[in-house]
Order: sequence, then structure tokens, then C-alpha cells
Amino acid sequence: MRESKQQKVDRLHRILSLLDKHYPDAKCSLKFNNPYQLLIATRLSAQTTDNRVNIVTPALFARYPTVYDMAEARLEEVEEYIKTVGIYKNKAKDLIAMSRMIKEEYGGEVPDTMEELTKLPGVGRKTASVVLGNAFGKPAIAVDTHFGRIMRRMGFTRHKDPEKVEKEMLALVPPEKQVDFCHQIINHGRTVCKSAKPDCLHCFLSEDCPKLISGK
Ligand code: SF4
Repeated sequence: MRESKQQKVDRLHRILSLLDKHYPDAKCSLKFNNPYQLLIATRLSAQTTDNRVNIVTPALFARYPTVYDMAEARLEEVEEYIKTVGIYKNKAKDLIAMSRMIKEEYGGEVPDTMEELTKLPGVGRKTASVVLGNAFGKPAIAVDTHFGRIMRRMGFTRHKDPEKVEKEMLALVPPEKQVDFCHQIINHGRTVCKSAKPDCLHCFLSEDCPKLISGK
């Protein structure tokens, strides 16, 4: 039988409670001290683990402590600092270009709206959502492939397009829970609802997850 909108909301609320219970301290695993650092770290994290990013950023931030320093950086030097992360040549270009734009168009301050952030070179909605939620404390849903996959397994969306998943989840998850929810789902994906083999039999969300019920 098809789930009504209210049933879906009720199910989500049960899941939110369970996630709070099991992952009370879920938070951003990238290390940062300000919006500039989080923007840089998040751009670096594409196709790279957060741990790998956290290894390179201390030296990078020490060498380029502000947007102004990064805006003046030499490309080859930035590449050298980040060469152990994936697709580092593109990322190095983006770090410099986004810093120049922040310096020239936003007075040196990382902008705090989705519209402005996504105008920065190399910044898509996922990166912008991470910055909005974790550096500025604004409601946001950061959708990557893992988050999208788990939302589909849980029956909260059928979409594969990250922007459509984001839109549906923004409408469903209460604003004050959105940032924590993203971190909790990422934790759940790393530990239980793994990409290749979700451990549904031992999952504390199994009673509220259609994946298990339908056996899909
Ligand atoms: S029951 Fe399975 S598919 Fe659903 S959240 Fe748990 S591990 Fe993932």
C-alpha cells in the first residue's frame, strides 16, 4: 500500500529520534576554524576522504591563512600542498579562483547564501550546503551520492538527481534538524547502510525502512 504524506512524515520523525539516539555527536569530519577554511576543505573533499583532506589542510592554511593570501597564490605552489588529494590540479585552480572572486566581489567575506556560494568557481550545491550548514548554522541538506542512495533505500525519494533529492528532503526534514541529519546519515552509510552491502538485519532503522520490508 502506498505510504501517505503523513505516514512518511511520521516515519521520518521516528528515524530522526533513532538517529539522535545512535549518533548523538555526529558532526562535520572536516577540520576548520572559519568559513574560508571550510569552503576550501569541502572543495578539496570531492572524490577524496575527509581524513585525507584533514592531513593536507593544516599546512595549506598555515601558508594561506586568508582569502587574500589564497587569491595571490601561485598555482604550482598550491598544487604542491594538495597533490595527495584527488583531481588536485582542478582543485588548486578553483581554490585560487574562488578566493579571487570572494576578494573582488564579496569584500573578502565568504558569502552566506546558496545563490552567491554557487557562483564561486568549483562550488556546487553540495559544497554550498556544507558551508551554509556548518560554517553559518543555516538549514541545509548536503546531497552526495551516499546520502542520495540512502534516501532512496529509505523510500524518501525516487530521484537520482541530487538537486531533486535535496528539494524533497528540505521539505521533509525540519530546518533545525537538517544539518545533524546529514551527518547522521553519512555516519550510518559508513557503518551500517554501506554502499555495496547494507547490513539491514542489524540496522536499528530496519522497522522503518522499506528496503528491508520489500526485500529490494
Ligand atoms: S534497513 Fe538496510 S537499507 Fe534501510 S537504512 Fe538500514 S541498512 Fe540501510
